Amino acid sequence: MEEQKTAVRYVIGKHAANGYYPVTVDGIPTGTIHRRHKVWYATVPGTVNDARFTNRLDAAEYHVHMYDLGIRPKVPAQAPAATDAPTHTPATFLLPDLRLTVANLLRAAEAMARLAQLGWAPLEGYPGADQPWLLRCRLCGWTGHRFWSHLRGRNGDMVPRPAHRHDGCVPISEFPAGLRALAVERTRTCPCASRPHPTTFGDAVDVINGLSSDLSTGNRARALALAAVMLEPCPATVRRAEELRAAYTMREKVVKDSRRRA
Ligand SMILES: [Zn+2]
Ligand SMILES: [Zn+2]
Repeated sequence: MEEQKTAVRYVIGKHAANGYYPVTVDGIPTGTIHRRHKVWYATVPGTVNDARFTNRLDAAEYHVHMYDLGIRPKVPAQAPAATDAPTHTPATFLLPDLRLTVANLLRAAEAMARLAQLGWAPLEGYPGADQPWLLRCRLCGWTGHRFWSHLRGRNGDMVPRPAHRHDGCVPISEFPAGLRALAVERTRTCPCASRPHPTTFGDAVDVINGLSSDLSTGNRARALALAAVMLEPCPATVRRAEELRAAYTMREKVVKDSRRRA
């Protein structure tokens, strides 16, 4: 849990009209990132070259490396505006790279829960089953891309294939002990001080219903806040996903029944 909380030290702000996103590291403005022709560029004012990356998270992470090297802009770039603050939770980065729907957010929440059980930490939002997903191996610290369709197994049997996690990981014989050690930090109720995450059926119903209504009325700010409580790191992520699924299933049934009666 602690590892997940400290994993992301940068915050990507809301993009300006010119397409540049301000970045802060540990709350200090460090420059910008922007995308051009499928390439992400990281710019630290005062340095000569823009660094190039294939995704925005690596571009933002570059700011952390530069910051730690003591290479910081003399004239700070503009910090993210204060009004953006509510959406700049870890979950901002964990929003699925899919259309924002209740079903997609639920799938993302379930994938987060399963990742926790498998000893992976997501470094970006759930991209769908067959897209590369940037993850950190919690058994050894390796960072790289894996496919959810491989991790969840064939026909969703939840047995990762291959059994081998990635090149250079700890030996397969050490996986069970490593995963048991990580399991100790998981809980069945949410202990988070930052804000509560839904781990009861009633709370999950409130989240699912609230999200459905916010998405249908276009209240994006409130929908993002609810997406955050579904997705952001929580020791009770497994229980959360179970209750959200139960709430969603009930809601679908109610909607179907009311259609049949109509
Ligand atoms: Zn590993
Ligand atoms: Zn929590």
